[in-house]
Parts: sequence; C-alpha cells; structure tokens
Amino acid sequence: MSPEIEAHLRRSVNFPSPPGVATHIIELAQDPEIEMGQVAKVLSMDSALSSKVLRIANSPLYAQRRKSESLRQALVVLGLNATLTLALSFSLVKSLRGAKPNGLSYKFYWRRALLAATAARALGDAMHQTLAEEIFLAALLQDVGMLALDQAVPDLYQQGEKLQRDHLALAEHEKTRLQADHAQLGAWLMKSWNLPERLYHAIEHSHQLEFIDRAHPSGVFDRCVALSGPVADLFLLEPEQRQFAEVALCAERSLGLDRVAFGQVLGTIGSMIPETEAIFESELLSKQHPDLILEQAREVLMLRSLHVLREINNLRSHEAVTKVSGRLQEETCRDALTGVYDRSYLEQFLVREFENSTRHKWPLSVAFVDLDNFKQLNESFGHQAGDRVLQATARILRVNTRETDLIARHGGEEFVVVLPATDAETAHSICERIVRAFRNTGHAVGSHHAKVTVSIGCATNGAPIQFGSYTDFIKAADQALYTAKTRGRDRSVPFDRPLSASFARIG
Ligand code: GH3
Ligand code: MG
Ligand code: MG
Repeated sequence: MSPEIEAHLRRSVNFPSPPGVATHIIELAQDPEIEMGQVAKVLSMDSALSSKVLRIANSPLYAQRRKSESLRQALVVLGLNATLTLALSFSLVKSLRGAKPNGLSYKFYWRRALLAATAARALGDAMHQTLAEEIFLAALLQDVGMLALDQAVPDLYQQGEKLQRDHLALAEHEKTRLQADHAQLGAWLMKSWNLPERLYHAIEHSHQLEFIDRAHPSGVFDRCVALSGPVADLFLLEPEQRQFAEVALCAERSLGLDRVAFGQVLGTIGSMIPETEAIFESELLSKQHPDLILEQAREVLMLRSLHVLREINNLRSHEAVTKVSGRLQEETCRDALTGVYDRSYLEQFLVREFENSTRHKWPLSVAFVDLDNFKQLNESFGHQAGDRVLQATARILRVNTRETDLIARHGGEEFVVVLPATDAETAHSICERIVRAFRNTGHAVGSHHAKVTVSIGCATNGAPIQFGSYTDFIKAADQALYTAKTRGRDRSVPFDRPLSASFARIG
C-alpha cells in the first residue's frame, strides 16, 4: 500500500483495535519464555473465552486426544500456540462483531469469514500443514479490512449483500474508490496489531492465488488461505452461482489436489460446519443443508472429465487477466506444428483419466491414429507437403470429435484421440467416421491431389474389458493399430480379447 493511502487511512479511519484480552494474548504469544500457567491465567479472566477453548479441545477436531476437564488440560491437549491462536480468533470475532454496520451485511460477512476459516483449515489438513489454527485465523481475518472500510467510508458498500456475493468485483470496487482493496488494508491492520507476519502475509495475498510464489516458504499456507474464500462461496452462494468446476481446477493448480481429494475436502468442511456454528454461535448456511451442497459438488466434480474443466477454464481465461499465466502454461503443452496437445501432456491426461475411469467405473476409450504410407508421401512430395498434411490431419480429427475429446500428437505421423465417458460401441463408430473422413479428403500437394488414409486402433476401458493397468490399456490400442495395418490399412480395429489372442498366435 502506498504511503499516501496509508496516511490518508490513518487520518480518516477510526480503526477497530483488538479488545483487552486479545491484546494480552498477542503480547503473550510474542514472549518466547511464556508458560502454560500465565496463559491459563489470562484466558480464565474471560469465562466465555475459556469455555470456548475447552469446548474446542474436546471437539471432534481433536477427538483422538483425551478429554480435557480444565483449561490447563486443554492447553496441554491443544498446545500453547494453538490455544493462543484460537483464543485470539474468539476474542477478535467477539469485539469486531460489536460495531454497528453501515452498508455492509454483517450477517453475510461473518458467514463467509467463518466458512472460509473452516475451509482453510480443511485445506490445510489435506495438505498436511501443522499450523491448522493459524491457517484458520488468517482465513477468518482475511476480509477484516472490509469491516474497517465500512466504518471509515460509510457509503462504500451501499449495494450491500449483492456486492458481497461477488468478492472480486467488490475488491475492484474498493480499488476504484480508494486505490487499495480490503486485502491490502487488512494486512496493514494486522501488522499494526502486531500479529505474526505469517498471518498478514497470507491476508495480503488472499486475492492473488495465481501469483503466490510456490518457492516461498509460506506458499502452501498462503494458498490455503487464498483458496478458502472461493471455497466458502461454494457453500454460501445460490446453487446456480456456485463454480465447483472452476474452484476444483484452482485447487488442482495451486495445491495439487485432484478432484477426488478436493471432493473429500468439501466433505470435511461439511462435517466441520455444525461444530464451527456452535462455537461461534452463528448459523453458517441459510437454507441448505451441507449434504445438498456436497451432492451438487459430487455431480459436477465426478461427472465432468478433467478436460471439460480445462475447456471451461480456457474460455474464461480469454476474459480474466489473472488466468493468463495458466494459459501460457497450457500453450507449452501444445505441439508446435499442429497445435494439438503434445505427448507429455497426453500422458499426464491419459494416466489420470484412466485412474478415474477405473475408480468410478466410467468407460474411457482411446484411439491411436496413424497415417498410412506417410513415408512415401514425404518421399514423393517433400517434407513440407508432409507437414501440411499433418496439419490437415489435426483439423480432420478436430471436426470429427467432440469438444470434450482430447487430441494429441504422439509423435511423427501418429495421433491419439482420448474419448472420455465413451463406451466401446460409440468409440468404434467415431473411429469409423474418422477413417471415412480421411478417405474422402483430398490434399493439394503441388499440382497433385493426394489422398491420405489412416489406420486406427481403439481400446475401451470398462465393459467388456477392464484393464489391469494403464500400460495394458495403451498396449491394447497399439496392438489394435498393428492389426489394422496388417489387415490392409485404411480401417479401424477395436481391441478385443479373442482377436488379440489370435493375433498373438499369428505374430
Ligand atoms: P505405415 O502405413 O506402416 O504407417 O507406413 P508409414 O510410411 O506411414 O510409416 P513409417 O513409420 O515407415 O514412416 C513414418 C514417416 O513419417 C517417416 C517420416 O519421414 C514421417 N514423419 C515423421 N514425422 C514427420 C514430420 O514432422 N513431418 C513430416 N513431413 N514427416 C514426418
Ligand atoms: Mg478478501
Ligand atoms: Mg504411418
């Protein structure tokens, strides 16, 4: 934040300051020599606070440990650092809730803050982060700048809840008015409250998921916090506004959580909601039961292939500047000559689709497409003419497959088409269509009109054959391609067991 803006804010904003107990806790936390007894004494000054700490020590979150009867025992169970952090969360929420709102809907604000904190904690657990309470606190406080701004600039959030439902639009609105958004302001505030750097660093970057430095030691911590807001929105917004697919993709990109792992995180959040509601005495979900939301999530996350998610993201990336980096990454996966995906991308994609297909019992088909006698064409018409035919091949494959199918160049004059959620029969008819399309296409090479045919080997994982491994699956398609070649080319052959047995005998 620029010094001018900071000076302006200092002059005009009556910032909330932490309540007495919180200030005390912050001071204690900074003392390296601190003892359990001192902490227990400070906490016991606030009986509501100490009963909450006790309650959380006995909650399912720490259920594997033994029951605590006293604050001292709770301190042992939770550990000093966690206890202080939790106590700070409770006392800050209590004091910040006391103010009188202007434009801001406090109800919506706190629901999002608590859901985001719960989400951040679940994400942190999934990432094996040890600082669960700090992640919770950072996410809980990530939008505290909004509370300050609502007090300082009473008409800023005139649009109320409507604006709050679109978090990034809200941040843009703040920047337009004030040249800074609530994330920057909140971080600055946390710093002035002497909170640990880990917290305000994460808050400062809470809107910049795509730009958080992976090499930074607090990278995972920060990304859990930055992702927590969009994840909270999945629970908070109306069903048609929830962007499960996009958020799942962010989780995958930023934390490496695949769809299954992300689905589990959503489940964990759902199961943590009642406890968080009880401890913070607020209702987090207005009408919907978490199970309904999780069901919707499952539908989106499980039925769509990863490729569809990528396509959605591609479409969006044209609009959103923040996604530019993602697109660049994507472009390095493309084959330079034909523009289809390259071999390394294909392999990653196919391995994952194969796992999903096996785990969820969805069919998955793969077609190996190899140009016939291509060497001859190169020899007769030259390498450049060959290159143009390879480009035409990519186009023919594109127009004869669906948006959700993936086309890649496996190398040389061999292409692979991945057909997610496609059974053997459908895959066979698509392959036949591709063979016909090549047969019916003429390529202008010099003064000639060349015809190029293809041979296709196709394999389907699912009924009637469930492959034991990815390698077997690929081998099957390759073997079917070999059969197509030996039977005279210009045809498509589906892999099936009896056929391959006879093939093996012939070979
Ligand atoms: P088959 O029907 O058995 O597949 O015969 P083929 O001639 O297509 O197969 P072969 O593997 O003998 O030859 C493949 C040829 O593809 C050899 C090579 O010159 C050509 N090729 C590979 N990559 C490229 C490329 O990037 N550009 C061009 N123009 N030709 C390529
Ligand atoms: Mg924010
Ligand atoms: Mg060939």
